[in-house]
Amino acid sequence: MSVWDDVVGQERAVSVLRRASEDPGAMTHAWLITGPPGSGRSNAARAFAAALQCHAGGCGHCQDCTTTLAGTHADVTVVATEKVTFTIDEVRRLVGLAQRSPAGGRWRVIVLEDADRMTERTSNVLLKAIEEPPPRTVWLLCAPSPEDVVVTIRSRSRRVSLRVPPVEAVAALLVERDGAAPEVADAAARAAQSHIGLARRLARDPEARERRDRTLTLAATIRGVGDAVMTAAELVDVATAEAKAATADRDAAERTALLRSLGAEDAQTLPPALRAQVRQLEEDQKRRATRAQRDVLDRALVDLLSLYRDVLVRQLGAQVDPVNVAHTEAVERLAREGSPEQTVRRMDAIGEARTRIEGNVAPLLAMEAMAVALRPQG
Ligand SMILES: [Zn+2]
Repeated sequence: MSVWDDVVGQERAVSVLRRASEDPGAMTHAWLITGPPGSGRSNAARAFAAALQCHAGGCGHCQDCTTTLAGTHADVTVVATEKVTFTIDEVRRLVGLAQRSPAGGRWRVIVLEDADRMTERTSNVLLKAIEEPPPRTVWLLCAPSPEDVVVTIRSRSRRVSLRVPPVEAVAALLVERDGAAPEVADAAARAAQSHIGLARRLARDPEARERRDRTLTLAATIRGVGDAVMTAAELVDVATAEAKAATADRDAAERTALLRSLGAEDAQTLPPALRAQVRQLEEDQKRRATRAQRDVLDRALVDLLSLYRDVLVRQLGAQVDPVNVAHTEAVERLAREGSPEQTVRRMDAIGEARTRIEGNVAPLLAMEAMAVALRPQG
């Protein structure tokens, strides 16, 4: 067993990172780990951090390995942001931390998960830190692609790129690590299109599988404008409920912790000067809920895209494995009822909805326009 076991389907990247962790001569102070969503960027960064701290190159069971992977190692800091960009103060704080020698570990490792979410001004603060790093500090920057990071940072970091792992590798991970049944693991890896996090959720959570199936079934059975409007409303409702379920516990815990730190039992007894802090938290939580709802909707739209991609594959008679093995019947019917051109237009409508939701158009409006475009055309 080793910390690299969970970095699936990335043999090339792993061999580079592994060598760097074992040979100080192959080590660099700033790394840029890139790969499409779900390829396991943060997973790879954590495994690398553990291998750097471990005295046996990432054995997977020592104190250094387990605490790094669990996110509690004193010398490994992992930061991500749910905001559009990191604030300059957040990055300054990290730069300050980077100046300190490791407390007990071999390296001070800072993992910046959304290195693409930075304004140019903030990037410049980070750049200075990367240019003159203390001898025991390592920065691991993660982003979807090198182009997402400003060129000055890109050129000073060593790049490692991850690929979309093969479906078989993801399915094997779900079986070995999570004990999923092979058929469930295979269907989940396919449905998630090798996105490891999504595949794991689908394999573990029957409700997530049901929601996904429901999304596809709803869309595939739209017959007219009335169905389309109802389907759009239901898709938005499901996304809202799912986002709420995902954030509710955390919101409550944060609120309790904040009130406790302010020395109050509830917000009413707070002096007005402190109430602003509670309001700030509420605003942050509201923003996070909005973002979670949009993320869930986007995922539903990606699922829909995969359904029509299967339809197109079928219409063109291409020799490619379907993504949605459980929806063969709907795929065949949709393929029969329309032309490849219509399928492409529907996929465009789904893509358009994704762009609009990302651009802050009211989700219901964007979903309605899309659902109307999905109905059978004469
Ligand atoms: Zn170890």
